[in-house]
Amino acid sequence: MRGIKKLIRTLVFLALIGVVGFTLYNTFFLKPKVEGLESLEKLPKKKEISLVVSPRAYVDRVVVRAIQGSREVVLFEGKLPSRVNEVRFTVEPKKLGLRDGEARVEVELRRFLLLKESFELKAKIDTQPPRIHLIYAPYTVLQGGSGGIRARLSEPVELYVEVGGERFRSYKVGEDVYIALFGVPVNTSPKDVIKIVAIDEVGNKTVLPLGTGIKRNNFKTVWIELKGREKIITPKLHTILGGELEDTDFVSLFKKVNEEIRKQNEEKIRQIGSRSEPQRFWKGKFLQLRNSKVLSRYGERRRYTYRGKLISKSWHLGYDLASVKNARVVAANSGKVVFAGDLGIYGNTIIIDHGYGLMSLYAHLADFNVKEGEVVRKGQVIGYTDTTGLAFGDHLHFGILVDGYEVTPLEWWDRKWIRTRIEPIFSE
Ligand SMILES: [Zn+2]
Repeated sequence: MRGIKKLIRTLVFLALIGVVGFTLYNTFFLKPKVEGLESLEKLPKKKEISLVVSPRAYVDRVVVRAIQGSREVVLFEGKLPSRVNEVRFTVEPKKLGLRDGEARVEVELRRFLLLKESFELKAKIDTQPPRIHLIYAPYTVLQGGSGGIRARLSEPVELYVEVGGERFRSYKVGEDVYIALFGVPVNTSPKDVIKIVAIDEVGNKTVLPLGTGIKRNNFKTVWIELKGREKIITPKLHTILGGELEDTDFVSLFKKVNEEIRKQNEEKIRQIGSRSEPQRFWKGKFLQLRNSKVLSRYGERRRYTYRGKLISKSWHLGYDLASVKNARVVAANSGKVVFAGDLGIYGNTIIIDHGYGLMSLYAHLADFNVKEGEVVRKGQVIGYTDTTGLAFGDHLHFGILVDGYEVTPLEWWDRKWIRTRIEPIFSE
């Protein structure tokens, strides 16, 4: 019995030491930290702030102050809620009487036994949203077409054009001068408003409607019956999908390639298209495949049927041009080769960067006469036409990309269109 009592006493004693030790450790050795402090470094007109205290280490109150000259303003003061260890508040510098410019921000954590922990940082206050002066914007653009803007900004910004839910980035070309090419996604409604969005260094945002109208384009619907073409198509599907296939049913393989693989390939194109150089490589109109016949236009809605039943759909976002078998393919304009390789349904593909977001794409090629990184001249042979990828016959699929988005090449083959719609963005 005595032994057990002694054991209990020892255990209680040890537990007490444990609790006291744990408390002392948390109080004096474990320093609380604040996540999200850096969000206080840049203060626009209005900002939501979230600060997380971790480890909590007996912090129960949080005070945030801004000091500007002799003025001291409390941005937040309150209890640190249990469990979440997070405080949220909104800062509106002007309403609090703070001026634009620099300020010192102090975050104070009040702890157990009157202990305090303070953090200090320098903040930049800027409550002025950027002003956009539009130097050039087109009067109208076409569904599936392209456009460009040139604008002067009141301060350095991140600027983009938003069309039909897609964003097209801009490039800084001079002091406070920005240019951007943009595409009009094929499914954009003519009622859609094209906007230019500018965000300054601290996060103030200005949105300006461009006032550019969107003209409807007449896209054709084309029905393609696959029955009878299995012999040509099946090996292509196997090549594109690669490896051993569990499912070998023609219709499901076709669907997989036309939908899943197409989506992956388009994502890859967007990725490549977003890495354009801030430099103009090109001049004049883009070249079309010599002596070629148009097999298929941009914007065709393709409906694939098998034994008369609709099995898959896709948008055709380029021009299919056919000439002789293995015809010479030349660079439509000067630029730098940014991709030369296999691209799923596009087969052997070359993508040339012309700068400032503009690229051209050549698909279903036989081989490559150029390498990635190579600078090519307008008219230089880069490859030969073939049937690689999901091509049913020898032809060139030619595409124009704006920020990685496929637009109609038709406008870029037109000297007058380029002169009136695109050149103004490059002239000072
Ligand atoms: Zn095509």
